[in-house]
Amino acid sequence: MTKGPPSRDSNRVGTELAPLAVPAAGYELCYECDGKRICIYCRGRGQLANGNRCSTCHGDGRCIVCNGAGELPEGSEKTADEASR
Ligand SMILES: [Zn+2]
Ligand SMILES: [Zn+2]
Repeated sequence: MTKGPPSRDSNRVGTELAPLAVPAAGYELCYECDGKRICIYCRGRGQLANGNRCSTCHGDGRCIVCNGAGELPEGSEKTADEASR
């Protein structure tokens, strides 16, 4: 599980967020959502096709890896890979 900063808690839903096209310097697009900022399992709706609340983002609709930022510090994916070995 990843850490979730509570400071970003708002009523904002994923659909309001524009996908991130170009990450900031020193950052790369989130490998999970590819910069779309939204939970890839519920597509940012916080709800699954069957009407259940998305258990991945807990109804938040945000990508759980980047927390809706759409970008991660460079090397995040590599670090995760190495850590799993
Ligand atoms: Zn979700
Ligand atoms: Zn993401």
